[in-house]
Amino acid sequence: MTEQITDLNYDPDPRGSLNWKVFITPGVPTVSDDLPPGETVRMWSPISSTLIYGERDAVLVDTPTTVQQGVALADWVVASGKNLTAIYVTHGHGDHFFGIGAVQDRFPNARAIATADVVERMRWQVSPEVLEGLWNKRFPGQIPERLVMAEPLEDDTFHLEGHELVAVEVGHSDTDNTTCLHVPSVGLVVAGDVAYNDVHQYLTESVSHESRLAWIAALDKVEALRPRAVIAGHKRPDNDDDPRIIEETRQYIRDFDRLVEETVSTRELYDRMLALYPDRINRGALWGSARAVKG
Ligand SMILES: [Zn+2]
Repeated sequence: MTEQITDLNYDPDPRGSLNWKVFITPGVPTVSDDLPPGETVRMWSPISSTLIYGERDAVLVDTPTTVQQGVALADWVVASGKNLTAIYVTHGHGDHFFGIGAVQDRFPNARAIATADVVERMRWQVSPEVLEGLWNKRFPGQIPERLVMAEPLEDDTFHLEGHELVAVEVGHSDTDNTTCLHVPSVGLVVAGDVAYNDVHQYLTESVSHESRLAWIAALDKVEALRPRAVIAGHKRPDNDDDPRIIEETRQYIRDFDRLVEETVSTRELYDRMLALYPDRINRGALWGSARAVKG
């Protein structure tokens, strides 16, 4: 497990400042018979969960996929010594919310919350179609039996020890109806899968040119918040959280978009992207994106 602690030394008001730290669930092998050329296993990307905390209380953003991963995250939150008041879900992909139950087992009073649109996406994600068609295939016997839904937020703003936390709806990014959690008092954006940090991006749900433009527009919205730190939902564990990842994520989409036009096959698109991004984590995600576009 990797833990990164950010001490801001930044205290804008007498309430005391918020801090955050990031728990990274490592990338793991999954079951798939559609392997990228030359690879022997289809991986899942590392997943970030962010604990935003004050003197006593904390809010957790996103929880990972499997039973074991959820328990490991819950143990880490317990070890922080903070009182968890809420679990915020950035978007409706199972690898960002299946672990809610494991965390609530330790913090029964922590409410799971998300925007109303994200809650809708979560419901679809736990439908038999998606659960059997994707999750139980890739992670057989590892997905929690009890999957907890978030409650829809009535207001986009909630509070942690007097500081505002703002759910910012940015529309389509790596799926539809995605959000970031903005903490204005410390300049933090927990970006969910709007921004990636040195990990191949999941463009499987961005098959059209328009949807790729929409993801770029979502990143423009994040940039307009002028964050000091941006936590990507999928990041290389040792990387920092510099806002430069906003532009890196956009550039990857622009390159993919251009190469979709310049290539004819899955393999050609995959190879051309890999030539530009040889070192990003999880080539399987790129293979999936190329497949989705080229068939
Ligand atoms: Zn994700």
